[in-house]
Amino acid sequence: MERFIRSDQYHYIKNQSQNLLNGHMTSNDTAVKQALQSLTNEKILQLFSDLTSEQEQLLAQASEVKDDTDAILYFSRLKQYVLPFPKLSEEDIKQLFPKVKKLKVPFFREQDLTELSYIGWNDPGANRKYIITYLDGELTSLYGHYRPLHQKSVCSICHEQEKVGLFTSTIKSNKEEETISRGNYICHDSHTCNENIKSRENLETFIRRMK
Ligand SMILES: [Zn+2]
Repeated sequence: MERFIRSDQYHYIKNQSQNLLNGHMTSNDTAVKQALQSLTNEKILQLFSDLTSEQEQLLAQASEVKDDTDAILYFSRLKQYVLPFPKLSEEDIKQLFPKVKKLKVPFFREQDLTELSYIGWNDPGANRKYIITYLDGELTSLYGHYRPLHQKSVCSICHEQEKVGLFTSTIKSNKEEETISRGNYICHDSHTCNENIKSRENLETFIRRMK
């Protein structure tokens, strides 16, 4: 079976399965448990269209997870079917930011790429944050001024309460010579943010708004 799950879908399934586990712990009623289980399975299957029976079977096991050990085993197996963020070379990344001189490109571990809906990193020396993701099937890049807030607030990308910072990008308006600055609070740690992304919708809205 080939990889067919996006990172955001993987995190959504994980989250649903965790909710279900919490439900198992709080309820002793078999009927309630079964109802929760089939609801969870339904929600997970709704993410996909045209599943093969093999894929459907694999996904159905997410709602059959009984405890934490089970969950670890299942999700490490499920991860083998997650489409990784494409591996980009330092040169690829530099080409995505043609205007940036002396771009500092971090090293991304290959095993982490299945966890990512976007690649993001901070350059504290330059007070900048860089983001690369896909929009309408094309790689797209974004960078801006970044200032950590040192407290928790809602992130514009993952919509969770996290340690955030103010990301500001300056864009040219339609009128000549005029620039507009747009600021949004986003997660300080892009890896945490990616783990929180259970749908690409907010990420894509954010990118479109900032570009
Ligand atoms: Zn976030």
